[in-house]
Amino acid sequence: MKIAISSCLLGLPCRYDGKIVSVSLELQQFLASSHAEIVAFCPEFAAFHSSPRPPIRLVDLPDSAKEYHIEFHDKRAVTDALYTECTTSAEAVKQYNPDVVILKDGSPVCGSTKVDVKGVWKEGRGLFAQLLYEAGFVIKNEENFNED
Ligand code: SF4
Repeated sequence: MKIAISSCLLGLPCRYDGKIVSVSLELQQFLASSHAEIVAFCPEFAAFHSSPRPPIRLVDLPDSAKEYHIEFHDKRAVTDALYTECTTSAEAVKQYNPDVVILKDGSPVCGSTKVDVKGVWKEGRGLFAQLLYEAGFVIKNEENFNED
């Protein structure tokens, strides 16, 4: 089985706050027991090359990835840098052609069911997840990774 996953779900310290995400035992066992070939992606770290770094959020939640806007919490726009890295990572996922895509929910980049839009949690996808959704992938997260 080929799995594409958010780097932070593998315990890599790539998050904005520099902290390691704690992952459920179920997900750890799934990754270990499925004899999977795993490739990890973090478009946000690829864009900013540092962790910790200032947090980002979505400005809006349009239907198309091309129309997304993302900013630091102090309102500096960061859409261009993130769009470049998210599209590069999405192309790499397409080339890899995984059986399962598992992304960290809640992130303005990787979120698949809920995202922070200007400080308000809304149902929707982050930019990387939206690009993969538009490419036809089913996006799982750390909670629903083993659901049909
Ligand atoms: Fe990187 Fe995605 Fe994890 Fe954010 S949620 S730290 S963009 S892998």
